[in-house]
Parts: sequence; C-alpha cells; structure tokens
Amino acid sequence: KNIKKYFPIKGGILKSTVGHVKAVDGVSLNIKKGETLGIVGESGSGKSTLGRVILRLHEPTEGQIIFENQDISHLRNRRLRPFRKDMQIVFQDPFASLNSKMSVAELIEEPLVVQTSLNKKERKDKAIELLEKVGLRPDDRLKYPHEFSGGQRQRISIARALALKPKFVICDEPVSALDVSIQAQVLNLMSDLQDEFDLTYLFISHDLSVVKHISDRVAVMYLGRIVEIAEKKELYEEPLHPYTQALLSSAPTTNIHIRREKITLKGDLPSPSNPPSGCAFRTRCPHAFEKCAIERPELSTMTTNHFVACHLYSEK
Ligand code: SF4
Ligand code: MG
Repeated sequence: KNIKKYFPIKGGILKSTVGHVKAVDGVSLNIKKGETLGIVGESGSGKSTLGRVILRLHEPTEGQIIFENQDISHLRNRRLRPFRKDMQIVFQDPFASLNSKMSVAELIEEPLVVQTSLNKKERKDKAIELLEKVGLRPDDRLKYPHEFSGGQRQRISIARALALKPKFVICDEPVSALDVSIQAQVLNLMSDLQDEFDLTYLFISHDLSVVKHISDRVAVMYLGRIVEIAEKKELYEEPLHPYTQALLSSAPTTNIHIRREKITLKGDLPSPSNPPSGCAFRTRCPHAFEKCAIERPELSTMTTNHFVACHLYSEK
C-alpha cells in the first residue's frame, strides 16, 4: 500500500543529501493467492526495487507491506524470520546469484540448515527431491555452478528458492539472461512448479512476451509508478495507457487480428531523481495536453479489473 522507496543522492564536499532517486513513488497493488502478477517496465522503472521492498530486502521509505493479513513493513529479525521462509526470490543472473564456491548440494541445503531442524540425511533427500523436481539429476548435487549451462543454473536457483516451501516467489527477470530457446522451458517449469507447490508469483520483466506467457494479470510501471494494471487478455488486447500502447506496438505479435502501428516514443526515460511534473510520461507521450503538466493522474477504474492512470480517461 502506497510503497515509496527513495534513495538519497549525496553530493558536495560535506557529502550531504542533495536529492533523492524516487525509485518507487507510491505503488499500491494486491497479489492474489495462487496468481501470477506480471510487472513490466523499462530498466529504471523501479520494478526490481519494488520487488525487493516487498520482500523487505530494502526498507520502504513509506507505505505498508501486508502478507496474509499481517503488516510486515516494520518487523525485524526474529519476528521477520518466519516470513523470510514464506517469501523467496529468483534473480536474473544465476551466475552472479549462486556462490561459485559452493556445490549444488550446499547451495540447496543452505536454507535448510539455517531455517529448519532437518538432519544431514533428511537434507540430502530433500535436495535430491528438489533437483528431480526442477529436471536435474540426483548426482548433479556434487557439481559446482560453473559445470552447468545458464538454463540449468536457473533450475538450481529455483530448487534453492523452493527448498523452504515458500508461498510467494518473486521472479526478477528469471529468464532474461537465457537464450530464447531455453526461456520457454524454464517458464514452463515455473508454471508447473506453481501448480505443484501452490505458489503465488510476482513476475518482473522488461519483456512483454515473457510476462504474457506466464501472468494472470499485468501491471505496467513507468518511473516508479504503476500506470496501468489489468487482466492479461485485456491489457494486451485493449491497452489504454499511451505508454502501454507504445510498448505493445513495438512488441512482436503473432495475432493477425491485433495489428498495431508502431508508436515510437520520443526521448529517453527521464531521471527518477527529477521526474517531470504532473504525468511523468508527458515528455514522451504523443497525446499530452495542458493538464498533463499540472496534475498527476491517479490510477482509476475503467472496468472491474482494469485500472489506468491517464488524464485522457479521467473525465469519464
Ligand atoms: Fe499522456 Fe497526459 Fe495521459 Fe500522461 S496523462 S499518459 S501525458 S495523455
Ligand atoms: Mg530489474
């Protein structure tokens, strides 16, 4: 609810705070049990920061994180621990996120050592079971991350994330570093595991086709805010926000009924330390008008599950 994450910018000889990068600037959303909510946006839109704040890997500057009706925004250490178990993250680059000095067995068993009372034999059995679930072999436990391909390493990260039977998993660009031919395999695996383990996903990606593959609903972020959120089908077939329309117009489509003229956005993403007044998208929006510079549009309801933040619709 109303999550903000501002990072201070230090400057001058006194290294005092001279401004803030508003990485996340007032985001409210619900993720329903069992669903996959996709978040798309360009790099710098704040989507990864939002994920880390939800997991309490970053402290929120403002706002609340409610997990299963409990406000976890300010819990610390011992009281936060049970939630750490329930909420896991899979990162983009499994090469960077897996410690290369640890064997696969150590990588998968580490969370079990820290968070459970399983003995050695039980941990080993658990690791073997998890490896099989993600499509690897039991004797892969004795190998090291560099002995695997990128796709296999991501399978190891997934096994590690699932070791504690989490309820909620944030997937932060989990297939972006993989070859396109491998991406679908890993996405299919993640879908299967979602059913089997009863998981809820927040799936972060800059790639609209990846998000489309796996999500039930999709949120579009621009400069730290959600500009549109809807059921997947509705968002892809009837995008309302000019930014979503532009993103979709440049994404390849196989649906001949949805032929879109390519909309080219002017300029680059403005700096999140100094966003434009009013609607942050106005410097690149083909429809911007007077009001857009003055007033910031809030998310408003279009249909039951479709929300958009744009003045083109606010008169309705
Ligand atoms: Fe464009 Fe104005 Fe809508 Fe922003 S509020 S997206 S500038 S039309
Ligand atoms: Mg990211």
